[in-house]
Parts: sequence; structure tokens; C-alpha cells
Amino acid sequence: MAKRFSLYTYGCQMNKYDSETISGYLEQEGYQPSEEAGDSDLVIVNTCSIREKAEDKVYSQIGRLNKLKKKNPNMKIAVCGCFANRAGEEIAKRAKSVDLIFGTQNIAKLPELLEKMEEGTVVDTEAMVPDFTSLEPMNRENGKSCWVSIARGCDNFCTFCVVPYTRGPEWSKPSHLIVEEVEKAVEEGFVEVTLLGQNVNSYGLKDNSELSFGGLLGKINKIDGLQRIRFTTSHPQNCDLEMIESMAANDKVCEHLHLPFQSGSNNILEKMERGYTSEEYLEKISLFYDKIPGGVLTSDVIVGFPGETDKDFEETLDLVRQSSFEGIYSFKYSPRPGTPAYGMDCLVDEKVIDERFEELANVQKEITKENHDKLLGSVQEVLIDKKLEKKKNLLDCASCCSGAVNSEEEFVSYVGRNRGSQRVVFLSKENNLKIGQTVNVKILRSGVQNVQGFYPEHEVEMELVK
Ligand code: SF4
Repeated sequence: MAKRFSLYTYGCQMNKYDSETISGYLEQEGYQPSEEAGDSDLVIVNTCSIREKAEDKVYSQIGRLNKLKKKNPNMKIAVCGCFANRAGEEIAKRAKSVDLIFGTQNIAKLPELLEKMEEGTVVDTEAMVPDFTSLEPMNRENGKSCWVSIARGCDNFCTFCVVPYTRGPEWSKPSHLIVEEVEKAVEEGFVEVTLLGQNVNSYGLKDNSELSFGGLLGKINKIDGLQRIRFTTSHPQNCDLEMIESMAANDKVCEHLHLPFQSGSNNILEKMERGYTSEEYLEKISLFYDKIPGGVLTSDVIVGFPGETDKDFEETLDLVRQSSFEGIYSFKYSPRPGTPAYGMDCLVDEKVIDERFEELANVQKEITKENHDKLLGSVQEVLIDKKLEKKKNLLDCASCCSGAVNSEEEFVSYVGRNRGSQRVVFLSKENNLKIGQTVNVKILRSGVQNVQGFYPEHEVEMELVK
């Protein structure tokens, strides 16, 4: 009988991509996914180390698995991911039930590590040069959108971040392998690809014979059957004219850029060693808005970095007001052991961080709503992610129907994303629209979380509702 495995994944998209690779290696070794962790021969916990809470969760998860292992003594427990890299030996000492600990750079060694694990606990977090000679086995999640990693690691060493220590130096995957991987994904039925890397837009910079990031977008754009290209995460210091012109020139590249700014204060940006000023950041985004009509921008920001004063925070709010972000992922500063910022003094009081966090969220909410209001009346190309179970009356609002559609009728509700990655919920009389299908939706209502509309766009005449 085939051995069975369960896999728990914490953290970012890169971790999820790693889990798909781990799962590919396990299937290659004859394992099959298990319905229940308790029935598994192997349970893998793919960890994250970005915040302290994420690390605490790992020990709670191991504690729960321990209880299952007592009932099923043949079960092996493995821990991998960023936290395994950072604290491999510590995990082995503290959690005796763990049989295998491996790092983010050792996934390709998994078949060998599984064998060694049979003889006793294995800890292998030694950094390895990635083997980019052939495609790795992948077991992708079902759906129509998939991830393809184009680079590993990071050379930037922002002072708050553990990634350069856990994922090692930056390596760009050869462009011919990336193209091969995307082509294979398209053959499997995926229509949208998100290119992944800690810093996608420094792609190829360390290798003169390789394409630039803009060049890579152009090459992927030629793949038949692929509809949309997205990418994350870009670094402001590598966001240049060539990259933005490539986004504009290649029709499959979506008009969305996720460009973390982290702080609006030059004083804090310098302490973070981000390599740009707030003025430079604003110049880059104005280039983006100029060259990409309808361009949508999202960002990351850290609130309460050590030494952040009220004035620094005001500058962050100013930058947010000037940037017209669709959304921002705000993080309360969390000191990570081993990073330069860990030892910095002038920690900001937690209550102050909470207040600033809330104020920022409120400012951004208004901006998001303004952005969504601008979509009212427009027709958006939406790639369907999901069909919602519950049928609804027209936008739950009979009073705003001007008569073109009978509001007593029941409609099917779908969710998807437009090219700018804005969430669109729409109704249709058509019951059989497919996940991964692209449809033109007329936007009739705007909220903060999403905009709402109707498909097909020509069948509806309704008052627009803000
Ligand atoms: S660019 Fe900075 S924040 Fe991003 S992964 Fe590298 S070190 Fe971390």
C-alpha cells in the first residue's frame, strides 16, 4: 500500500509554491496525499519565520501532531521552511517527536533525506546552490491560476527581514526553464501565472548572459494559451523604465504592480536600508501610472519600526495619500532575532503602534473606496475564480433596477479578479460559467472589499451605486 502524507503550509506564496514542489517530490517517491493527518505516514509542517506569532504556531502544531503520533507511532514528522532554517537545531532539541528538519534550500534532497530519517532524526538546513538543470516535480493545487518561481533568495538585507538569512542569496532560474515550466502549466490547463521571487525585478542582474526581468516578461508573453501574467514581489530600487515599458508592451502582463514602500519617512527608510527615498518611490509610481493606463498599485508598509516618530508616521500617511494604492498590507513591526533591527533601541510603544495601524487602515480604506468608485459604469475583464453557492436577487437591491432585468429573478453569483487584481463579484443569468473563464462584467456597485457587477454587460441598465 502507498505511503500517505499530509502537508501544512504557513506563510507566503513562496512557501505555498515550495509545498507544491515538496508534494511533487513525495508523489515521485510513491507517497499519496492523506485525508487525515492522523492516518499519515509522514506529516510535513512548512513554516514561516516572518513574524513571531508564525513561529509560535509551529510549536503548537507540533504539539498537536505529537498527540497523533502517540496513537500512530509509525508516523514521521518533518518540519521545513524559513523557521526550520533559522532554528533547525533548536526545534530538534525542543520537539523530540520531530524526525526530519530541512531548509528552504534543501527541498531537492528530500528523497535522500527521507531515507536517512529512517535511521534517526535528521537536521539538514545547510545552504545549497539550487539545481537549475531540469524542472522539479510539481503537484500544483487545482484551479486555473498557478505560481512559477523565477528566483530564489535575496541579496538586499533590509534590516528588519529574515529572508536573506533563511532563503540565502539570490539565484535566478534560467529563463528557458521558466518558459518550460509555464508551458507545462498551460498544458495542464492553467491560464494565469504569477511569477514568484523575493525580488522578481532584479531577475538576471547577476548573470550577464540572462534576460532582464522586462525581457523575461516579453518571452513568457509569447506562450500560446496563457492569458494573464502577474508577478510578485518587486523592489522599488529595481523598478525601472525598461520593466514598466515591458509591462505596457506585453498584452498578457496584467496592469497591476505590487511595490512595497515600507515607510514614507526617509529617516526610517535609511534605517531599514531599503535603498531609496520616499521621493524616488513616488517618481517610480508616477512613471507606472503614466505608462500603464488604468494601472493598479498595491504595497506593503511596516508600522512602528524602531525610532518611528509621529512625524515619520505622518510622512507614511502622506505617501499613502499621494499614491492612490488599491490596497496596502500593513504589518506591525515585529523584531526578528538575527536581523540588524533586532538590536535597535527606541522601540515604539505597542499602544502607539496599534493607534497608528488603525489610522493608516482608515486612510487606506477611503482611498480604496475612491478607486472602486472610479470603476462604476466601466466594463472589466474578469477571470472567474469561484462560483458562489447561494443564488441572489439582482445585487440584493430590487429598488435600483431600472427595469431591464427582472429583479424577482434569481441570479448566479461569481467571484473573480479584473486585470488590476481588484476583486469583482458579479451576477449572471448563466449558470454554467467556468472557473478560469474570462468574461466582461459591467460594474454597478462599489464597496471597499470589492466591486459588484453584472454579466453580460449589455443586458443590464441599472443606476450606479456608490
Ligand atoms: S527585499 Fe528586503 S524585505 Fe524583501 S525579502 Fe529581501 S531583505 Fe526581505
